[in-house]
Amino acid sequence: AEQLTMKLEVRHLTKTFGGVRAIDDVSLAFPSGSLSAVIGPNGAGKSTFFNLISGAFAPDSGEVLLDGEDVVRRSKAERMQLGIGRAFQVASCFPSMTVAENLMAAVTAHLGQWGNLARRFPLPGARERAREVMELVGLSHIADVEAAILSHGDQKLLDIAIALALEPKVLLLDEPTAGMGPDERWGMIERVRGLWDQQKLTLVFIEHDMDIVFQVASTIRVLCYGRVLAEGTPDEIRNNQAVIDAYLGK
Ligand code: ADP
Ligand code: MG
Repeated sequence: AEQLTMKLEVRHLTKTFGGVRAIDDVSLAFPSGSLSAVIGPNGAGKSTFFNLISGAFAPDSGEVLLDGEDVVRRSKAERMQLGIGRAFQVASCFPSMTVAENLMAAVTAHLGQWGNLARRFPLPGARERAREVMELVGLSHIADVEAAILSHGDQKLLDIAIALALEPKVLLLDEPTAGMGPDERWGMIERVRGLWDQQKLTLVFIEHDMDIVFQVASTIRVLCYGRVLAEGTPDEIRNNQAVIDAYLGK
């Protein structure tokens, strides 16, 4: 039977940019089906961490393991096929295409075709999958709206939907609530939690709003200057003196 969730683990991951150690010997494990937050100050290396897992960047050294298999030498596309999905801090869709077209393009590209052609030549199955995903994330009512004129929140949702269209088992969300007001933020995070629950994902999200982090995440990893400052449950992190000094106290 097809496996529903996957364990994600990194070992001794390091990435430098010039003289900056953006990620410095990071080892972390995310159990199958867990919902975890990655937090830390600006520049701590959170987005770089996701880039190393998704394959956008190659690390200088270290391993990225999916269910125990090292995928660090595999391309971004191969890792996507293996089940690593990713949404971005700044949403990344085709602005001149509609919501439905963006999703069909993503599915078609995933199935090995060139994404830009998918608007005119969606593969069989792509339309159906697009419809499913729009239903799942609540975008059906704006299926035919151009991505460029969506609200900020709907653009972020579309970005998540594009990642989901590829049926990931591990989903990385880089600041899903970035740029949102307090009400919209909670709406987004409830949706994310719902997706995690329904889709049986191993989900990791980067988030700055500590109310959200403490309420939603079951485990929290704190990065600071590219290193793991702490990891634990919300209660453990809330009371961790190093975390308070470096991050929470401000
Ligand atoms: P965060 O997401 O926690 O704010 P980032 O991972 O974006 O942090 O950045 C960590 C460090 O790596 C920063 O010093 C940043 O300037 C640097 N960095 C990130 N991406 C690049 C890049 N593509 N080229 C050069 N430096 C980068
Ligand atoms: Mg970032």
